[in-house]
Amino acid sequence: MTIMTTPGDVSLSTKSLAGKSAIITGSTSGIGLGIAKSLAQAGVNVMLNGFGDAAEIEKTRCDLERDYGIKAAYSGADMTKPDDIVAMIAAADAKFGKVDVLINNAGIQHVEAIETFPVAKWDAIIAINLSAAFHAIRAVVPQMKQRNWGRIINVASAHALVASPYKSAYVAAKHGILGLTKTVALETAEHGITVNAICPGYVLTPLVQKQIPETAKARNLTEEQVVRDVLLHAQPTRKFVTTEEIGALAVFLCTGGGASITGAALPIEGGWTAQ
Ligand code: NAD
Repeated sequence: MTIMTTPGDVSLSTKSLAGKSAIITGSTSGIGLGIAKSLAQAGVNVMLNGFGDAAEIEKTRCDLERDYGIKAAYSGADMTKPDDIVAMIAAADAKFGKVDVLINNAGIQHVEAIETFPVAKWDAIIAINLSAAFHAIRAVVPQMKQRNWGRIINVASAHALVASPYKSAYVAAKHGILGLTKTVALETAEHGITVNAICPGYVLTPLVQKQIPETAKARNLTEEQVVRDVLLHAQPTRKFVTTEEIGALAVFLCTGGGASITGAALPIEGGWTAQ
């Protein structure tokens, strides 16, 4: 007897993503680069964005095209500049014909007590970690609505759910992006668009490496104490989250399996916020 097998539902598999296009802000490093690689592996064309050494960025772009057989582009748009953000989306449209997936990931951090927290740092953190997502979402939603399909993922943080001292601007921006996520999810729910926030715990990227000495100073600790007693102390797994784990979650949200997940804050933080 021949047993007939039926192909699985392609919309639930990453195969359904082949040929789609994504913009990942802040993807020259860390979590954004991890998400870009995961999407590229699933066959998604990617537009990279962020700062860094031009030759290194070009190498990353070429490696993605070669390793995954997709189209990769780069925009140097500065996320503090709304006009740059709109131009980045227009450039992705010109290169790929559309933007199906928007990952708002670019972010910076500054760790200092509120009394001396530099005003310029507050302004920059709110601009990059929060307002940039507003400008990008505002610019891509019309075309996503037109095609009745879209995925918007805001890389928030465990700090969108709970606070830590000395991170006033960051925690405010991350709590803010959760509000933006929920609001746009409601506005787009009937248009095949999902809008979610991924809330990572500590990932050992340049952003975290930089805050180890700053936290040591703010809390009068050694750097080793900061890693053990502050960073990993927050996470019951006592392990850093990896960029690959976050990339895998982003890809899942883009598949059909994620179609009914919208307006959600998805913790990926080793149990931090369960405490
Ligand atoms: P990272 O420093 O490795 O990468 C940040 C990226 O943003 C880089 O590509 C950088 O060039 C880009 N960027 C910074 N300013 C920019 C600007 N003005 N315009 C365009 N691009 C700009 O940091 P990361 O740890 O990968 O952080 C990425 C995101 O993840 C941030 O939103 C951060 O808040 C969030 N996050 C990080 C952690 C962590 O532990 N690393 C935890 C939770 C959330």
